[in-house]
Amino acid sequence: MQFTDSHIHLQDYKTKNAQQIIADLRKHSYSRVICVSAKSEDFSSVANLVQLDSELIIPAFGIHPWYINEAPTDWPELIRHFLQLYPQGILGECGFDRLKGADIAQQKNVFQTHIALAKEFNRPLNIHLVHAEDVFASIFKHLPPKFLLHSFSGSLSFLRQILHHGGYISVNPLLLRNPKFHDLIKAIPSNRLLVESDGPFQSDYTLIPDFIKQISQIKEIDILSLSSQIQQNLQNFISPSD
Ligand SMILES: [Zn+2]
Repeated sequence: MQFTDSHIHLQDYKTKNAQQIIADLRKHSYSRVICVSAKSEDFSSVANLVQLDSELIIPAFGIHPWYINEAPTDWPELIRHFLQLYPQGILGECGFDRLKGADIAQQKNVFQTHIALAKEFNRPLNIHLVHAEDVFASIFKHLPPKFLLHSFSGSLSFLRQILHHGGYISVNPLLLRNPKFHDLIKAIPSNRLLVESDGPFQSDYTLIPDFIKQISQIKEIDILSLSSQIQQNLQNFISPSD
């Protein structure tokens, strides 16, 4: 059985060095992980990780809503530079957060620039969304064809809108503690489901195998088929759309 992690900040692990984590991911049969950045300082760290294992690590370049105010003014140019260097690179982590970060108008501007870059390079978006479903829903029609909502815990009606617009849903083991867990897992079609750790912040990649087991029980799908479906979904997500 092979595993994936669709949202991890490998550059932020303080306890182990990147080489150790990559070896550990390989040892635990991870085939692909999306390594997201949160600020422009992360871009070269993420790029350096790709040099260590370019098959395992898919780099993502973006400005997180919490760090918009400290981003250099030329951040779109920096992202463009890294997307040109890494044809497998995607956009993220970017999005909206009402609880923390820049004001919403500013977040909207920055997100629109990420959308423009995603469209220009035909790359997917790895999106952070906290307490801003309304803002996000207002720009559905502008989104590129491929996007994922990371650490999803929204409502079923919002989930239906995302699915309708072709989005992927990435779930985090944190969701196990949420009373909505069963209903959400049942409502996410298997071909749009991704799993993530958001390590080292929200959770840890070592929890993913057991998390997939629990999802397979709720969805009443054999664990092997589910894990290979999730792997296929990640592949579909990162593949350029026609
Ligand atoms: Zn994150």
